[in-house]
Amino acid sequence: MRLAIVGGGISGLSLAYFLIEQNFDGEIHLFEKEASFGGKIETTYLNTSLVEHGADSILMQGINVENLLKDLIGTEGFIDLNTEGFHILSNGKKNFIPSGVASILPRNLDHLLSLDLFTESEKKRILEEREIEVLESDESIKEFVSRRFGSAMFDKLIGPVYSGLLGTDTAEISIDAAFPQIKALEKKHGSLIRAAEKIKKQSFKVISLDKGLGIIIEKLIEKIGSTVQFHHEEVVSANKKELWNIKHKNGKECGFDHVVFTTTANQTAKILKSNSPDLSDALASISHKSMASVYYIIPDQLISISKKSSGVIIAKSDQNNITACTISSLKFKRDETQSGDLIRAFIRSEKTLKLDKDSLREKAWEDIKSVLEIDVVPVGFSVRYWRDAMPVYGMNHLRNLSKIDILKSDNSLHFIGASYKGVGISRCIENAHALSQAIL
Ligand SMILES: Cc1cc2nc3c(=O)[nH]c(=O)nc-3n(C[C@H](O)[C@H](O)[C@H](O)COP(=O)(O)OP(=O)(O)OC[C@H]3O[C@@H](n4cnc5c(N)ncnc54)[C@H](O)[C@@H]3O)c2cc1C
Repeated sequence: MRLAIVGGGISGLSLAYFLIEQNFDGEIHLFEKEASFGGKIETTYLNTSLVEHGADSILMQGINVENLLKDLIGTEGFIDLNTEGFHILSNGKKNFIPSGVASILPRNLDHLLSLDLFTESEKKRILEEREIEVLESDESIKEFVSRRFGSAMFDKLIGPVYSGLLGTDTAEISIDAAFPQIKALEKKHGSLIRAAEKIKKQSFKVISLDKGLGIIIEKLIEKIGSTVQFHHEEVVSANKKELWNIKHKNGKECGFDHVVFTTTANQTAKILKSNSPDLSDALASISHKSMASVYYIIPDQLISISKKSSGVIIAKSDQNNITACTISSLKFKRDETQSGDLIRAFIRSEKTLKLDKDSLREKAWEDIKSVLEIDVVPVGFSVRYWRDAMPVYGMNHLRNLSKIDILKSDNSLHFIGASYKGVGISRCIENAHALSQAIL
């Protein structure tokens, strides 16, 4: 069998890895349009500081993720996140939120109930969650959290935090699509408070790596490099005749029995346009937003916010250019000899994302100065734009997926990656593993 994988991010590379591990009998060809592999995992250096332009941490969820990391990296080099919590800026006020509290699954109920944020009656309503009935139908994050814990839990905590993290209105995000595991826990335990009490702390481990996540990509390439045929080519179309004809930007074409797209759904839509316009339209209906990740290096020890805090999430209502900023050098503690603090911020405002690098640097820095209450001149800066890169799991996401499944009607065509069933790295790896078994 000849198999083509389009895209050399974590989904494409881990799919090739799992196929090879399970003795796939055939040729694997992997197409990547960029000069380097990794997609949204991109580790580089700014001066002497390690920076992650894309993902910087992994929620350890799934046995295949654990096994893959153990095999590639061993057990050394993992770093636990060095943080006791973060601040949330909402309605102009900054509140400290301890770790494990700002989650739809209340992993730290005692801390949650000790927050000054809530009145006594709001705390009572949060505790009544244990008695709230399970609802089968889909809801937005806003509806789900307000129904289970009361509107104060959403308005004062979950809404601002998740809108800052996701950069979008949580009233538009489907709980079934974005957090199916939460809905499964609601169903299984009848209550999220009870679910959190039963689940071991270990299940929520978030890790990073001292050499950066880019090491996973390097090790994957090393491991699969002698078996997989790599092509640094942009795929522009794929048409099914007897075989799948994959055409590169340079005009070359070649045939494959199976093709797997790990590209975002909007990119895949363009590639499949001539083969199946209806399927292409369905893929294009999964919406994606742009964002930018910026880093600044500032002279040492000038940050006035508590050393316990990893940074500040800014509620969407607060209308800043940035949606969050973290003090990466405190959060990750990679290198004790590094001089200066490293600050990372995320930008999702469409207007700000239209700015060139210099204007964007100035705009974002104005916000950071005010949010972190600092007044220094940065000594280093870098920006990475991620255009139309972040999928939005809206209220029609699951309907779109069913439509795509029906229109696909060809078991030699496959879609995995962040656009479909989970944005996080661990979900991408688990979905690649599931597909490897289906192909074998
Ligand atoms: C700023 C940022 C921060 C994030 N932080 C986290 C985090 O901390 N933890 C976490 O779990 N997740 C995080 N994510 C999400 C996570 O990084 C991604 O969802 C995941 O890495 C996606 O992997 P993928 O392989 O599915 O897709 P991608 O990484 O997008 O890979 C797809 C690949 O396809 C290539 N490609 C595109 N078009 C073509 C074509 N026509 N021909 C050939 N190749 C093509 C691309 O160049 C790319 O390399 C973050 C994402 C971003 C952008």
